[in-house]
Amino acid sequence: MFPDTKSRSAALFERAQTVLPGGNTRHSIAIAPYPIYAQRGDGCEVVDADGNVFIDCINNMSANIHGHRHPHIMERVNKQVSQLISAGMPTESEVELAEALCARVPSVETIRFCNSGTEALMFAARAARAFTGSSMIAKIEGGYHGSYDGLDLSNKPSPDQWGPDNRPATVRESEGVPLSSAKDTLILPVNNVEAARSLIREHADQLAAVFLDPLVSKLGFLPLSEAFLTMVREETRAVGALLVVDEVFSFRLGRAGAQGVFQVEPDLSTFGKIIGGGFPIGALGGRREIMEVFNHLRTGSPRVEHSGTFFANPVSMSAGVAALELLDDAMFEHLERLGESLRSGLRDILKELDIQGMVTGRASLVALLPHTRPFHDYRTFIHGFREDNGMMAAAFRAMINSGVLPVYPRGFILSSPMNAQTIEKILDAVRIGLKTAREASCAA
Ligand code: PMP
Repeated sequence: MFPDTKSRSAALFERAQTVLPGGNTRHSIAIAPYPIYAQRGDGCEVVDADGNVFIDCINNMSANIHGHRHPHIMERVNKQVSQLISAGMPTESEVELAEALCARVPSVETIRFCNSGTEALMFAARAARAFTGSSMIAKIEGGYHGSYDGLDLSNKPSPDQWGPDNRPATVRESEGVPLSSAKDTLILPVNNVEAARSLIREHADQLAAVFLDPLVSKLGFLPLSEAFLTMVREETRAVGALLVVDEVFSFRLGRAGAQGVFQVEPDLSTFGKIIGGGFPIGALGGRREIMEVFNHLRTGSPRVEHSGTFFANPVSMSAGVAALELLDDAMFEHLERLGESLRSGLRDILKELDIQGMVTGRASLVALLPHTRPFHDYRTFIHGFREDNGMMAAAFRAMINSGVLPVYPRGFILSSPMNAQTIEKILDAVRIGLKTAREASCAA
């Protein structure tokens, strides 16, 4: 049972607190009263330090699109590890993964690798600044692009901080982000075409790039509207700024990622998570002309430096190649079917139990929200939670005891080894979780 103070996970967390502040290295996966420590993974299941088996619906926040230790990825990785782990030399696997990504994504003519999504975004910002000669960058309110100073702003501002609807304030939510970052980053109101258009025009002379995540992961997978995407594409072109589409989370939507699904043509794209087949990775790619800022061949030194000890390491590259090989059209259809059957099953359960809630998401990304208020931006998304009595979050915790690990407190990220029976098991756990949480809230 979770929580269990006598569990090995609880003991490990106790131990962790003496050597790691907060006992953790990754705030995004912290849960109270202690995190469940993973020991091994097989397909769509993960086994914890106490031997409990769960259907993994976290999948390392989207990275493990093929679940754990997929045989095709393992074969390639084992071969690589038996030959070379890393070197201060490039390897053929780097060229192979670059070819695979350029072949999949029409807007990506050339690409470079790093070790995380955060780094990819940071280098994309540098490339955009070098290419345009401007320094300001823009992002949407509530959009998340990792921990780079210039973009780790207004991810989850509170109403007392966020300023007017048509002119959101740039909010530093983490101490340590420099004040200058807030001055150099413009926040656009989500899906508000006219307000965002005026802001882009007003900053035309300073703007290097607009960063967008077309399916906003932190806002219940809210899609950016076609009108908004079209406006940003047109206005960035008009003012000479770049459009950067962040595919770190959403590349799992289809063969050419979110940009393929939403039919938007960025100048630069950032990648991470699934393109590493479960190993650390990041990448940025786009128009050859822009990516030339990294080319050191002509002048002997690049305009933008880009180096890292483990960049393009052959283990991540090889795993990435194998992961992409598995992602053909049939595989995307399979993932789509899994997501659709989970979404429709969740809607049926909400009706059956007469519980207020809403199911959102696309393809293999699913969210279960604790309210029925429609939302179209960050502010309406947050307002939806006003009537939340915490029951849905309690249900998500209760699911753990039925053998399902969801992304607490409201998501499910699916993996290719899942099948119709897995979805049934997840739905059973949700039903039990919701009933348990309702009984507990009635008893309270
Ligand atoms: N961009 C998006 C859209 C993300 O979801 C994330 C991570 N969740 C990042 C960037 C940062 O990637 P990483 O955690 O690999 O630094």
